[in-house]
Amino acid sequence: MFELNSLLRNNIKKLKPYSSARDEYQGTEGVFLDANENPIGSATKQKFNRYPDPKQWVLKEKIGGLKRLLPEQIFLGNGSDEAIDMVFRSFCTPGIDNVITLPPTYGMYKVCADINDIEVREIPLTTSYQINIPAVKAAIDERTKAIWICSPNNPTGNAIFSKDIVEILTTFNGVVIIDEAYIDFAPDKSFTQKLKDYPNLIILQTFSKAWGMAALRLGMAFASAEIIAVFNKVKYPYNINELTQQMAMEALKNLLGKEMMVEEILTQRAWLEEELKKVPSVLKIYPSDANFLLLKMKDGTGTYDKLVAKKTITRDRSKVTLCEDCIRITVGTAAENATLIAQLSSI
Ligand SMILES: *Cc1c(COP(=O)(O)O)cnc(C)c1O
Repeated sequence: MFELNSLLRNNIKKLKPYSSARDEYQGTEGVFLDANENPIGSATKQKFNRYPDPKQWVLKEKIGGLKRLLPEQIFLGNGSDEAIDMVFRSFCTPGIDNVITLPPTYGMYKVCADINDIEVREIPLTTSYQINIPAVKAAIDERTKAIWICSPNNPTGNAIFSKDIVEILTTFNGVVIIDEAYIDFAPDKSFTQKLKDYPNLIILQTFSKAWGMAALRLGMAFASAEIIAVFNKVKYPYNINELTQQMAMEALKNLLGKEMMVEEILTQRAWLEEELKKVPSVLKIYPSDANFLLLKMKDGTGTYDKLVAKKTITRDRSKVTLCEDCIRITVGTAAENATLIAQLSSI
């Protein structure tokens, strides 16, 4: 049985959160002399003198409409990084609790665990980059608070089988995080509509990839209203700045623009796959449900270095478990991809 209260850190269970001026008076009309802001304006042309909405309700209403979720089921963070950190700070007691990750996967889960002094039990994916279910189950003990699943997975690019994710969700009593940073590029459905079935589910998405807004730093976590209420207590009061909230609203009004970019990137990915098949130094192109391709090369690091010398920067993943001699390439523009293919063919 999943029981939120028994899973939380003791200090968080007892935490009385900071109450900001904007928490204590929520009206929008009136003379605001409560937050020590500058009443005159800003040093910039655009005005930023008032503190932003600490819970970002307008933005959450808009995202909720798009994702068919309640605003109360949404946490917004300074990138997904903040949402990842929120899981550790809310659930994991330093020096005592542990989490499970499934390498090769996104590096931030382990870095964030290390910062929070949380043991990481790394259970490698199978050679086809799927979950080794019996090994994960065997690694769980009474101090295991979270299991991190990235789907589609970075750096391998594939989506994780839904039935395996459901198996973990239904048998594990801690929280299960599905990082869906690349879900817009995948044929698979998001787990967002399954939140009501699994009280232990936390889904991460981001504005950094398909939406093309990495510089803004805006990540999303979707979960039960109860879990989101905990994150709201733990987060910095004004964690999402006003400019980011405004720009995200603008982006959300241009859903078609985002979908057209996704289409273009998928077209480019297909083109790249076809061209890469003709390059002799490419031994394998792993199937991708994301905006990048993992390639097994004859010599991964050598290729990486030679491309750097030609000013094309890829990601050398050859030191990563199960990714020997692999490089990861982000799908670029048509011109960038053509350059990459020309360079790869000449080295
Ligand atoms: C890129 C990426 C993110 C996004 O991180 P942000 O902090 O939101 O920019 C999250 N998870 C994975 C697996 C990623 O590759």
